[in-house]
Amino acid sequence: MADIIYSYKDSVYANITNKCNCRCTFCIRFLKDGVGDADTLWHQTNPSKGEVIQAIRDYDFTGFEELVFCGYGEPTCALDILLAAAKVAREEKHLRVRLNTNGLGNAENKRDIVPELAEVLDSVSISLNAPEKEKYEQVVRPQVSDAFEEMCKFAKASKEKIGDVRMTIVDVLPDDEVEKCKELTKQLGIPLRVRHFT
Ligand code: SF4
Repeated sequence: MADIIYSYKDSVYANITNKCNCRCTFCIRFLKDGVGDADTLWHQTNPSKGEVIQAIRDYDFTGFEELVFCGYGEPTCALDILLAAAKVAREEKHLRVRLNTNGLGNAENKRDIVPELAEVLDSVSISLNAPEKEKYEQVVRPQVSDAFEEMCKFAKASKEKIGDVRMTIVDVLPDDEVEKCKELTKQLGIPLRVRHFT
């Protein structure tokens, strides 16, 4: 059975679904089965809301202050579970809650989900991956329309309603694209983090 909660380096993560609306060329899911102390993050069947909540209740978070929703799938593809589980993590375990997302949750759920997220999240990290539409489509291979625009809109709305928002790229991008990403995030008023490709 796949791990719902796992730790990696200094953080604890919740792996709530394997569903995703992208097919990123670099997706770690296609390279290895597990991360950190998890043997596998592939669920045989995606966990129910009750199973995720129970896993959070059962986990010993001693020494950790934050739970990050990030696994082998996109958490906003299981929005009702994400919202309920984040609430439990905050209210019962007194954790800060971060969402790592591809930023396509509004497109996926066909509505503006940011106000609901703002009720239960402390911070959001959005994968930018590329500075412009064409390149983004090539790398992320989104299954929703107007994905690049949707992701930027989501980032802006999250900044307004949640505040603690950052965007990320991996350090495999060429220098000129990194510079363009810096310009774009500056326009959006959101900090950019360049992270190492695992
Ligand atoms: S959004 Fe994340 S989980 Fe989905 S394909 Fe891309 S890297 Fe993988």
